[in-house]
Amino acid sequence: MSDADELARRKLLESKGKSFGHSSRPNDRAPWAKNVLIVTSGKGGVGKSTVAVNVASVFAQRDWKVGLLDADVYGPSVPRMLQVDDERLTWNDQERIVCAENFGMKVMSVGMTTPTPDTPLVWRASVATSALIQLLEDVDWGELDLLVVDMPPGTGDTQLTMAQELRVTAALVVTTPQVISTDDVRRAIKMLQDVHIPIGGIVENLSGFVAPDTGQRYAIFGEGGGQLLAKQYGLPFLGEIPIDMAVRQSSDAGTPIAVSGTAAQKAWYERIADGLLATGRFLQPKL
Ligand code: ADP
Repeated sequence: MSDADELARRKLLESKGKSFGHSSRPNDRAPWAKNVLIVTSGKGGVGKSTVAVNVASVFAQRDWKVGLLDADVYGPSVPRMLQVDDERLTWNDQERIVCAENFGMKVMSVGMTTPTPDTPLVWRASVATSALIQLLEDVDWGELDLLVVDMPPGTGDTQLTMAQELRVTAALVVTTPQVISTDDVRRAIKMLQDVHIPIGGIVENLSGFVAPDTGQRYAIFGEGGGQLLAKQYGLPFLGEIPIDMAVRQSSDAGTPIAVSGTAAQKAWYERIADGLLATGRFLQPKL
C-alpha cells in the first residue's frame, strides 16, 4: 500500500473515532457478532467462497443467526451463490444499510454496491479497506451468533485489516490436494499466525473425482495436501470435499448444496462445522 493510501485509511479510521487497530489488540468492529469465522485460501479458484457459503448455511440450518460478509472485494461471488446478485443497497429509517437475506442468512457484499453485478470495482486498496469497514459498521446486521467473512485469497490488505479490526474466533483455510505447490497456503497459514488469528482448521476441496458411470476415482489435483499441511502445522483437518458437478451447478443456480444436496453432500460441510465447534473456541448461541 502506498503512503497516500495508508494515510487515507488512517484518516477514515480516525474520523470514525477509532484508532488504528493492532493485530494483537484488534478493534472490535463487530461487537454484535458472538463469533467471527474468516474463510481464507492461499490462491483463488480453490473453492473458498463455495465452502464459506455452505458452512454458513449449515449453521443457519442449525438456527444460528448467521451473517455472511463477502470481503472478496475484487471478485465477489457470494451474491450469485445465494441468488441476491440483483439486490442493490438500501437504507432503513435509521440510515443503516439493509442486508440482503436468503436461506436464513443475512448477506452483504461490495458486489451489491455497484450499479450492476458486472460493474468492476477499480479501487485502490485504501478505498476497498474503507468500504469493508463500512460494511461492518454501517450495515444493520442485528445481533448475530456467527459472522462468516469470505476473504480474498492470499496475504494482502484485507487479511491485515480484518486482523486489526475484528476479533476473529477462528480462520478456516481452504486448500487443494496438491502436495507440491502448497507454498501459497503455507504463506496464508503463516500470515494468520503472525497476525494472531487462531486457525480453526484446514479443508481440502477438489479432492478427487468419482466418475458417475464407472465409479472410478481420479485424483485430478493430486492427493493428501490438506492432511499433510494440517499435520505439519499441528492444525485440525476438517475434511475433504470431492470434485462434484452438483457443487458447481448448485453454486451457479444460487442454492447452496448444503441446503439442496443429498445427505452425503451436506455431510461434507456439516463435518467442517462440527470440526470448528470442536475447537472449543466458539461461543454457543442461545437457541
Ligand atoms: P474461490 O472462492 O476459491 O475463488 P469458488 O468457491 O468461487 O473459489 O469456486 C470456484 C469454482 O469451482 C466455482 O465455479 C465453484 O462452483 C466450483 N467448485 C468449488 N468447489 C467445488 C467442488 N467441490 N466440486 C465442483 N466444483 C466446485
